[in-house]
Amino acid sequence: MLYNKQHGAELKRKAARVARLVPLMPRLGPETFRPPIVWGPFDGVDDEGVPLVEDRVMDLSLDRMQLPTRRQLPQPRPQMGPQGGPRPGIPVEVPDKKMRRSKAMDSEPNVVLSVLAHPDDAEFLCAGALIRLAQEHRWQVHIASMTPGDCGSMELPADQIAAIRRQEGARAAGLIGAVYHCLEERDLRVFYAEGPLERVTRLLRQVRPRIVLTHSPADYMLDHEMTSTLTRAAAFGAAVPNFFADRGMPPALPHIPHLYYCDPIEGKDALGRPVEPGFRVDISGVLDTKASMLAAHASQRDWLLKHHGMDQYVQSMRDWGRQRGKEAGVAHAEGFRQHLGHSYPQDNLLGQLLGVV
Ligand SMILES: [Zn+2]
Repeated sequence: MLYNKQHGAELKRKAARVARLVPLMPRLGPETFRPPIVWGPFDGVDDEGVPLVEDRVMDLSLDRMQLPTRRQLPQPRPQMGPQGGPRPGIPVEVPDKKMRRSKAMDSEPNVVLSVLAHPDDAEFLCAGALIRLAQEHRWQVHIASMTPGDCGSMELPADQIAAIRRQEGARAAGLIGAVYHCLEERDLRVFYAEGPLERVTRLLRQVRPRIVLTHSPADYMLDHEMTSTLTRAAAFGAAVPNFFADRGMPPALPHIPHLYYCDPIEGKDALGRPVEPGFRVDISGVLDTKASMLAAHASQRDWLLKHHGMDQYVQSMRDWGRQRGKEAGVAHAEGFRQHLGHSYPQDNLLGQLLGVV
């Protein structure tokens, strides 16, 4: 996280809150807190708004952090624009932040972007929400995959199956008037690294979404988890003008978009523990359209049949939607969790648009 000297007062206030939460941290208070650079969470909650447990809060101990002195710190950069207002795109904390954010969002087109690992992940995990945003609210929908699914075949070489799967992804997206993007990483080689982070950031600045959907931070395989981490970082960095400023990208976003995590596959993490959604949206009315989008990935039914022994490609999606729906008293649903870490939007825009069940 990036902080500078102008965040000092805010950080002091939050540090005082954290200190009140943890009596075992007598030194972490306004008297000993040294802005402007700090590592760690500062809202007393984690990235999904869950209150921190003591051992995580203790990581903030000044005794352990070895903060740099003021003399060692880089010179703060000016935060004011040419007219004296905040420089566009800098996510600074201001008293009327909510009002400024709402105003900025009103001027942005209504765009939703899903960034998932493989070409068919959106059709399994969040296409219901995407369809509803397109059909009920006329949002522009963009569906991105990190890879072209180049390992998704038992017979075809990587370049051939990748070409097929790019077409399938575009065809599926086209069914709802969405645009498909492939970021051209490779299956089982999605890494949190500068190259992929630059590509996701560039996509965000080109598409300029108000809502971003990505994988659960904990999922069944690392391509999904790395994609989640990359998208989280890019959502933050896309609103920082100096981030990749030398790479010829469109201007920074005016603010961090609303970021949501889809359910992990089968609703569980890599250790088999259930991952409960923060909220569910009803997709009963668009399930058939979602199934049609998934069926556009014809090559995958064959691949899953041979590799996983699963012959129910579309049916498995329907079954999972039914399970999430049953939990909420509707026929079919999709589950999401919102990223609620410091500086990310706190209002549930997706839930407001689609209704929470
Ligand atoms: Zn996947």
